[in-house]
Amino acid sequence: MTARDLLQRLANDTGIPYQTIARKVNRMMAKGMGLLDSVKNIAKEHGIKETKYRIDATKIVRETEKILREDYTQTLMISAVLGQMVEARGRERLPPPAFFAFIEMLSRIPDAPRDTKSESSTEIEDRTTRIIELMTTLVSVLCEWSEKGVAGVADDCPESLRDMAKAVFRKTKLLQGGLWTCISCGDIVDVKEIIALMCTKCDSSISRSDIHQRFDQMAGRDRTGYGRTFSEERDD
Ligand SMILES: [Zn+2]
Repeated sequence: MTARDLLQRLANDTGIPYQTIARKVNRMMAKGMGLLDSVKNIAKEHGIKETKYRIDATKIVRETEKILREDYTQTLMISAVLGQMVEARGRERLPPPAFFAFIEMLSRIPDAPRDTKSESSTEIEDRTTRIIELMTTLVSVLCEWSEKGVAGVADDCPESLRDMAKAVFRKTKLLQGGLWTCISCGDIVDVKEIIALMCTKCDSSISRSDIHQRFDQMAGRDRTGYGRTFSEERDD
């Protein structure tokens, strides 16, 4: 169950339109209340049992892993889109905590199989949308929120996901202080100096035009198992 499913369920249960529910929850979250608490609060106001509303973070992680393991090219394309979205402004912008959770997810998955079929762009778009939904939901339950954004690790964060939550919190806090964690080497640099989410050192070692090569390096991984042997390309 993602945040959207949860809000939809609440809308159905209360008879309040989804948009109204979403606005209400957004307002509560902007004041520092967690997603689940906000939903439960509204449920309570309407005399609905709040235990009905639950998000299982480990299930979200499992579904994400499954998508990211499906196919190499697809995972790279998703990474590229998310990378562009976190740099975007306005409505298109992916919240940085969700992006950091995605980076953590990438570092958890073993190498995905090399592409055997080519996905249609619609398929990739659907998967990307789903990943965004999963990641925004995940950070909303793993992390503790305040009006300033991520404020720590949620009390009920599962033990197995605490490291992920801590990493998201740490990177978000750094970003609030104007610092960025390079998606390739993990060095902490001034956010004004990054190029396509990387430090200048990593950026200059990668061909600007090769989007695959760029996002192959996310989470500092050597994805030689994917079939792209970087050692060969770099040894010259
Ligand atoms: Zn770097």
